Amino acid sequence: MGHVIAIDGPAGAGKSTIARLVADKLGYTYIDTGAMYRAIALWAVRTGIELPAADAEKLEQLAIAANIELLPGRRVQLNSEDVTDAIRTPEISALASQVAAIGGVRAALVIKQRQIAEHANVVMEGRDIGSVVFPDARVKIFLDADPAERIRRRAGELPGESVQLVASQISERDARDRTRAESPLVQAPDATYLDSTGMTPEQVGEAILGIVRARISNGKAAGAATERET
Ligand code: C5P
Repeated sequence: MGHVIAIDGPAGAGKSTIARLVADKLGYTYIDTGAMYRAIALWAVRTGIELPAADAEKLEQLAIAANIELLPGRRVQLNSEDVTDAIRTPEISALASQVAAIGGVRAALVIKQRQIAEHANVVMEGRDIGSVVFPDARVKIFLDADPAERIRRRAGELPGESVQLVASQISERDARDRTRAESPLVQAPDATYLDSTGMTPEQVGEAILGIVRARISNGKAAGAATERET
């Protein structure tokens, strides 16, 4: 089993940027679990499965059968097809959080996520990594930012969308992620809360690396992380 650094938090908190930065520094593999839920939503749409009324068992079967590959450069393959751009649309964002509420889908993807960390050190980002997927993760971060900043960041990634629409999509998705019965978005009791509002990615990355170093020197984690020189 590799070492796991878990980064959870709501949409637009900066998880992807920060997780990639920390992974690069430590020489760990970056894993975006949201991309996995997005890939299942995309496959469901293409298969003609109607969400949210869909048969949960059908969606679970898709999640079990899906061959999802997370490649360097944040590229994503679903059943050998590059779906990097197709999974990033606002429609798929909303549908991803609907399929993510289904217990069977989560169970199938959690198995895949645990398999990835069997032989690799990972920085894994998502909603339930520290609370459910890896309760014994070496370091757990709950990354947050104030809603206005989260909307600004997400709107910056979607130049064609109105800010108002982005705001309502984010608040709807967060509400669904926080209130669902299965593995809702919560801060694990032993996670460190980090508010990235007004901070640069480098500052947030440095804060997390500081936590990683402190954990190691406290002897709370086995082994040692070696930072790469940049
Ligand atoms: O992180 P991202 O915004 O790409 O995730 C898309 C959706 O996938 C989230 O809104 C959430 O519903 C779901 N998700 C999840 N658990 C994770 C990662 C993502 O439920 N570990």
